[in-house]
Amino acid sequence: MWRETTRHERNMAIWREELDGFVPPRVLDFHVHLYDAACIDPAHVPSAGGHPCPEYSREMLLGDLAEFYPGRETAAVCFGSPHPEHDQAANDRYVADSCDGRRMFALRLIDPDNDPDDVRADVAGGRFVGFKPYLTYVRKADPNTVEVREMLPDPIMRIADEFGLIVMLHIPRKARLADPLNHRQVRERCERYPRAKIVLAHIGRAYYLKNVVGHIERFADLPNCYVDLAMLNHAGVLEYAFSHFPAARILYGTDLPIAAAPGKSVEINNQYTYVTPVPWELSICDGGGRIRFTSFLYEELRAIRDAVGRLGLGRGFVEDLFYNNGMRLLGGVPAVGDREGRP
Ligand SMILES: [Zn+2]
Repeated sequence: MWRETTRHERNMAIWREELDGFVPPRVLDFHVHLYDAACIDPAHVPSAGGHPCPEYSREMLLGDLAEFYPGRETAAVCFGSPHPEHDQAANDRYVADSCDGRRMFALRLIDPDNDPDDVRADVAGGRFVGFKPYLTYVRKADPNTVEVREMLPDPIMRIADEFGLIVMLHIPRKARLADPLNHRQVRERCERYPRAKIVLAHIGRAYYLKNVVGHIERFADLPNCYVDLAMLNHAGVLEYAFSHFPAARILYGTDLPIAAAPGKSVEINNQYTYVTPVPWELSICDGGGRIRFTSFLYEELRAIRDAVGRLGLGRGFVEDLFYNNGMRLLGGVPAVGDREGRP
């Protein structure tokens, strides 16, 4: 089993020694991918840190949550595997069927080619609390030229605004959080659609310090802009984010199932890469077995703990980060019954 949970004693030791005293009683993971094998194009099986992961079911998630956070009450915001070759409708159905709107919350994948009437009907049915667009759905030859507005066209944003939905945005372009066009277009989407809540996944993919410094604060004044911490393993980036972005709009998230894999994201010379024990297209591989790894997820928890410690932040900050901020955001999305009869 490649997933580095406390089922392995070495991870249980890390939990006991470093994390058990830090992680609060309730944990809401705001960034999880769920899919069953039937949704997935066999030619594009998702990779979790180099480990083929042909399905990540509700049962696998619940098992992992119990094993990563022993004794904690857990919850998750879930969405499918965003790849144009997968069966989007089947994946959205699978995620919606897996979520109860109490402990598990569903986001609908958004392909800009989706018919807005279908999207609206899905949302009005009450099974989704938001959207998960992705840059590959824009289908450009060079994915680095994708724009936020192409991922989130007006008809989609109007629906997000009408229903007060969450939009989990993996921002495009090489410079990511530092890209001026991203700044302008995120700001424009937030301001024109003030009831939509745009979450910059992975702190706008700023995995190294130079990408966050001087940039995250440009989004701080947008009351409907949030960040999640998925796959952030860098205490310096987190420390900067915690001190330059409103605490109430920072959400804990992991990117399971990828975060369950062994590995770490590292900064080298104003860039970042992943280091993993097995080959992965995004990583440098420790093929010689020099390093004994734990999960990306535990590296993220360590980095959060270090950043909190460096800044002297209290238990209130930690409990809000891991649970209350996200639940408050979810609570702002009208429940199923409230959605009928709205103009
Ligand atoms: Zn993700």
